[in-house]
Amino acid sequence: MTTPKDVIRGDVLAMTSYPVPDATGFVKLDAMENPYELPDALARQLGEHLAGVALNRYPAPRPAALIDKLKRVMGVPAGCAVLLGNGSDEIISMIAVACAKPGAKLLAPVPAFVMYQMSAKFAQIEFVGVPHRADLTLDTEAMLAAIAEHRPAVVYLAYPNNPTGTLYPEEDVERIIAAAGQSLVVIDEAYQPFAQKSWLPRVLEFGNVVVMRTVSKLGLAGIRLGYLAGSPVWLDELDKVRPPYNVNVLTQAAAEFMLDHIDDVLEVQAADLRAERTRLADAVAALQGTTVFPSAGNFLLVRVPDADAVFETLLAARILVKNVSKIHPLLANCLRLTVGTPDENAQMLAALKLVLK
Ligand SMILES: *Cc1c(COP(=O)(O)O)cnc(C)c1O
Repeated sequence: MTTPKDVIRGDVLAMTSYPVPDATGFVKLDAMENPYELPDALARQLGEHLAGVALNRYPAPRPAALIDKLKRVMGVPAGCAVLLGNGSDEIISMIAVACAKPGAKLLAPVPAFVMYQMSAKFAQIEFVGVPHRADLTLDTEAMLAAIAEHRPAVVYLAYPNNPTGTLYPEEDVERIIAAAGQSLVVIDEAYQPFAQKSWLPRVLEFGNVVVMRTVSKLGLAGIRLGYLAGSPVWLDELDKVRPPYNVNVLTQAAAEFMLDHIDDVLEVQAADLRAERTRLADAVAALQGTTVFPSAGNFLLVRVPDADAVFETLLAARILVKNVSKIHPLLANCLRLTVGTPDENAQMLAALKLVLK
């Protein structure tokens, strides 16, 4: 009788699953979720809207009404195509699969969002990580050298980057795009609601750039909807590896409904979180021994004297953050704190003060 060892790829057998801790009963500040729920009346309206969805039917593969609304609300330039994913995670996987020619490489500054490297691994293409500088800013010269050396098929730039929060200087991004003329450059704008800067208006200026967004960090992480915008020349090809019916009917209906409430609900919450980010950054920076890195996301990367001790103290106070200190040498003793509600942030600060006088 066969066993998984006989059948499953060796590199898959050697992997560990993506760990998602059980957060029941915790103040959850580990995953960059928007901490606010929908207003009651709006949640009820959404429920009625979803009740009208035909669950017996397969979803539209390219839902025109949703895509048109998304284009209008998110300011996608005319002439762009839009591809939807089950979260941007799925789009990242699709890009790796579509570009996995023999010998192809995928390049990104590191530390970076883990899915870039994972998608390369799954598609069996080589991942090239280019370390940031010690202060976690972009090492543009190293990026240019690595692009010249490796000629990657795909270059990822998260704008701003996760887990560092860094928003790369515009002229550095331009130099990388110019140097990566042989590559597809994917600008990942998952945190656009908090950075308020975007390459989307300029995406068609370059022949080799696509912009990826998600509604997750804006407050809809649960519905799993990401999108890619760019020239149809690129998107028509990537669309060929999209699993059919990848965005389910409830997600499509919820997104269409919520896109009418970006300005009155989700943007208001994002503005709140931006203000909280500043307050939290100042308060954490005032604690003994901390370094708070500048962040354009809804999170802060913080270096402390002993990340494990601080993490354990927060856990004991039932506060869950992300201990990223072992992810990359540049993140030694670093924690990533998601910006929560004023009350959650106050609880986190009180716990931090127990270990950092
Ligand atoms: C959270 C995150 C994503 C993934 O978003 P989903 O749409 O929820 O899959 C993509 N890129 C970066 C940089 C992120 O931090």
